Amino acid sequence: KMLFGIKLFNYWFWGYICFLIFLITMINLILFGKPGSGKGTQAEFVKKKYDLIHISTGDLFRNNMSNNTDLGLLAKSYIEKGDLVPDEVTIKMLEAEVNTHPNANGFIFDGFPRTTVQAEILDQFLSTLNLSISLTIALEVDENLLIDRLISRGKDSGRADDQDRSKIQNRFNEYNNKTSPLINFYKIQNKFFKVNGVGDINDISARIFNTIDNNI
Ligand code: AMP
Repeated sequence: KMLFGIKLFNYWFWGYICFLIFLITMINLILFGKPGSGKGTQAEFVKKKYDLIHISTGDLFRNNMSNNTDLGLLAKSYIEKGDLVPDEVTIKMLEAEVNTHPNANGFIFDGFPRTTVQAEILDQFLSTLNLSISLTIALEVDENLLIDRLISRGKDSGRADDQDRSKIQNRFNEYNNKTSPLINFYKIQNKFFKVNGVGDINDISARIFNTIDNNI
């Protein structure tokens, strides 16, 4: 049988169709939110439910810092002040991490991108892999509530950037100045959704799952 001059009993043809279906079913998500909004916690739930690879640039930097790698030493000076690490460094680290998972079903990016440059390069990078961002979810929590959450997290984890109010304020400023423009970047692509990040952890997950299921 022929269709548009293509033999239907042809392994290449069906292989290509399967590949297209695979690309369409891949989910690549971005989880946004100010420091302490619960990105890491919720990313773990989303990862399990949709079988995704969870990539947190904050965790990658902290791993490098605890192993005293060159990257860790470089990142430390920025992270300790609550400043963003420079784009080139962050992007290189992220691309290397994505490349270690060639067979992933999809990714959940947590804490990346945080600047317009990072978002633009992420789109370009994903397109070289025939991938794209499916949607972006922002966890919304009031800054006053976040300060309390971060201070109590800092007491448990010992994270220096969670223990000092002026560093926390600086991280909020970095978010408001450099990360919040991304809301519009993804809105104009119809890929931006807000989720109320206050309440019971399981309720917040349910809101995120609904947002994904309704918009994917
Ligand atoms: P997080 O755990 O996501 O709050 O990240 C902790 C710190 O790591 C941030 O305050 C930044 O200094 C740095 N960091 C994490 N992700 C990025 C990123 N995408 N761009 C720049 N710096 C980052």
